[in-house]
Amino acid sequence: MMLNREKNSFRQTLASHGIRLTRGRATTLQVNVGLLCNQSCHHCHLNAGPGRDEVMGQETIDQVVALAGRFRFETIDITGGAPEMNPHISDLLRRLAPLAPTVILRSNLTAVSEPGRRHLLDLCSGRRITIVASFPSLNRNQAESQRGPGVFDQSLATLKELNKRGYGRPGSGLSINLVVNPAGAFLPGSQARQEKQFHRALEKKWGIAFNNLYTFANMPLGRFRAWLEKTGNLEGYLQKLTAGFNPCATDGLMCRTMISVAWDGTLFDCDFNQAAGLFLNNVRTHISEIDELPRPGTEIMVADHCYTCTAGAGFT
Ligand code: SF4
Repeated sequence: MMLNREKNSFRQTLASHGIRLTRGRATTLQVNVGLLCNQSCHHCHLNAGPGRDEVMGQETIDQVVALAGRFRFETIDITGGAPEMNPHISDLLRRLAPLAPTVILRSNLTAVSEPGRRHLLDLCSGRRITIVASFPSLNRNQAESQRGPGVFDQSLATLKELNKRGYGRPGSGLSINLVVNPAGAFLPGSQARQEKQFHRALEKKWGIAFNNLYTFANMPLGRFRAWLEKTGNLEGYLQKLTAGFNPCATDGLMCRTMISVAWDGTLFDCDFNQAAGLFLNNVRTHISEIDELPRPGTEIMVADHCYTCTAGAGFT
């Protein structure tokens, strides 16, 4: 059955609940340092992978650091691709770490273990950088069918290295949070239940500790959308997302308080709008062109992929 997109458009759904999705004060700076990755996960909304050569260059890195110094965000969230593969990543981490109380590095736990990158583990622990790591499954086959052969053991080895440096250990002040996403065209199960299960299994089988676990639904964009189309799952998946719309989840959406910079310096409300090509304020603006952050009350750009963030308990 075809989804009636007009009837179900996210914008109309918001209107029917009397909700205006507008910005508050921007407290998080998200920096996507490139689409280059050592993995080609089938759920990636950005089509990141080894064949991509889009990476943030030195000039844009300098502009990001200048912006972070000028506006003092509460959180700086560095993502990719595999951010560790950006040739300027050490410089960026060193310069951003003193500029916000929380600096996050998103890691797939394998790029960092490749030759020439292990120093990044020391750099992150030394500068109290929070790690948010994708670790999709406790099952080796399931994890490797989503992310590629060898990924499971490499991820465990990196988690152990992080634990050795204090990550996930009480009193260390070093946080590592895991991200789990479904292996197919369905929504994630209970976050609290999975967190308990992961804590128990990782500790018991491998002696690994972590802080929190987040379950995220896959975005129907990029490679995941292509997979949904190819397997005939697109309409069914969009219907599941639409049916799961939870108006209460719109209050805490990350786009209300985030400004997101793409690898080339273009500004967006979030990383997903980057993938969808929806510019901040609907105008292509470069980081070098802004002299103030978007004002509270500014409209957020939305499209039907936003149902992913508002299905069930929400995305953030
Ligand atoms: S995709 Fe999610 S975070 Fe981005 S604008 Fe839509 S609701 Fe907000």
